[in-house]
Amino acid sequence: MSDHIRLHIPGPVEISQGTYEAMATPMIGHRSKDFVALYDDIHPRLQEMMGTKQPVFLSTSSAWGVMEGALRNLAAKKVLCCCSGAFSDKWVDVALRCGKEAEALQYEWGVPVDPADVDAKLATGEFDVVTFIHNETSTGVMNPLEEVAAVVNKYDDVLLVTDTVSSFSVVPIEFDKLGIDVLLTGSQKALALPPGLGIFTVSDAAFERAATIEDRGYYFDFHEFKKNQEKSMTPSTPCISTIYGLRHQLDVIFEEGLENRFARHEKLNNIVAEWVVANGFEFFAPEGFRSKSLTAVKNNKDIDVAKLQKIMRDDHKKQLDGGYGKIKGKTFRLSNMGDETEETIAGLLAALDDSLAKL
Ligand SMILES: *Cc1c(COP(=O)(O)O)cnc(C)c1O
Repeated sequence: MSDHIRLHIPGPVEISQGTYEAMATPMIGHRSKDFVALYDDIHPRLQEMMGTKQPVFLSTSSAWGVMEGALRNLAAKKVLCCCSGAFSDKWVDVALRCGKEAEALQYEWGVPVDPADVDAKLATGEFDVVTFIHNETSTGVMNPLEEVAAVVNKYDDVLLVTDTVSSFSVVPIEFDKLGIDVLLTGSQKALALPPGLGIFTVSDAAFERAATIEDRGYYFDFHEFKKNQEKSMTPSTPCISTIYGLRHQLDVIFEEGLENRFARHEKLNNIVAEWVVANGFEFFAPEGFRSKSLTAVKNNKDIDVAKLQKIMRDDHKKQLDGGYGKIKGKTFRLSNMGDETEETIAGLLAALDDSLAKL
């Protein structure tokens, strides 16, 4: 497709021809043996990627559906929301709109969550759920999941809900070992699928809590998902075409090997980082907390980001992100997640060089 604008934004990302072809597999009934076979085929691989023996659920919603659903299933007392960017900040608002009590543990955008602060908040005994975003896509910060999980695990009656929307399949994530209670991701980030599919898993402690919550609704009811998953089905009709796409991507991922996939993301991320430094730009995220999925470049050279985006689009048919929300123009973001290769990243950087020279 000659008029195709290649996506280099941090989601949705570019989708391979193989995935599109898999998605064109003829439709099947969601209560058929064929669907059971499809779910059975992908389920163990999703468990392996999440580092869990718990059931993994397929939600026909974007990630926010599961993010909201987790609060509806689990929050009885008060939710502590670790806030340090657009997605994590919004979670407080979502909790309040669900009629839950919630409080923000607020950081400046770009500042990682400090486990000691989470500890101090939980020591008050006010909270029973923590929301945590592993990779804050808006700021390019990877928050310290392992350390925060260790803190939350000190408190028996507090559950940890973790959004790995833009880190899942980029870095290893060990649900069971870390003692996470809900782990969720979405299809259109590193899995390189179209939007519309949420994937998540739930701990026994979280199932127990959910059983005590009366008004958890239907569509995102964890127990409804569990009951159906036991028969390799979903509560309602799922986005079957996207699930065919997921099966294809899992074939691709396991053929590459998980370790190789993590290493590829790290390598591509490093190539982008070298370009950032070589061009006199800085990183928005502090050293040691930089995302491996994308780079939020600080616009310390005060370039016209909107113009850069326009040149990239008009002259190179590439879509660039110009910064999220209140850091629009003060940053721009370069994604390396999904099916990117050294060749495609080289193409992105060459186009950036040319476009910068034209500013
Ligand atoms: C993209 C993203 C979301 C939102 O996902 P939707 O698919 O729009 O619901 C949530 N969290 C993070 C970290 C994201 O990157």
